[in-house]
Amino acid sequence: MAGNIMLEVVTPDKSVVTEEAQIVVAPGEYGEFGVLIGHTSFLTALKIGLIRYKDPGGIERVVFVNGGFAEVLPNKVTVLAESADRRIDIDVERARAALKRAEERMAEASKKEDIDFRRAEIALARAMHRIRIAETRRAA
Ligand code: ATP
Repeated sequence: MAGNIMLEVVTPDKSVVTEEAQIVVAPGEYGEFGVLIGHTSFLTALKIGLIRYKDPGGIERVVFVNGGFAEVLPNKVTVLAESADRRIDIDVERARAALKRAEERMAEASKKEDIDFRRAEIALARAMHRIRIAETRRAA
């Protein structure tokens, strides 16, 4: 079906994306899914990962998403996430520092039971995805 779908990505403190898209691809809890205009409505949890979409000019864009939920309607995808960052807003040094911290905590946790290994693993996933986006230098 021809036409663009509206994409909105919002967090508790900002609206990260409000843009039309030719296609939106998101990391659903049970696997990545793609949405074109006219898609059946559904609601899903998201994993930490990347939302990729093609803007109306056909340029591929990517946004980091820290889990959350996506509501898909035939003409709109709304993502509510605890945090989300466009490529241009990612501070790669900050993400590298977060990655290092998470790795250190995970190493500690394998020695000491009292450190939250899972929390560090989730922080590591956030940092790795941010670095992945920031280091792929294309249009933001
Ligand atoms: P950090 O340990 O560096 O704070 P985090 O993964 O714990 O990273 P989040 O809880 O996901 O951070 O996000 C908190 C806020 O900081 C959000 O507004 C998010 O957009 C922003 N943020 C986190 N990491 C970065 C980064 N590397 N570059 C730019 N903004 C970031």
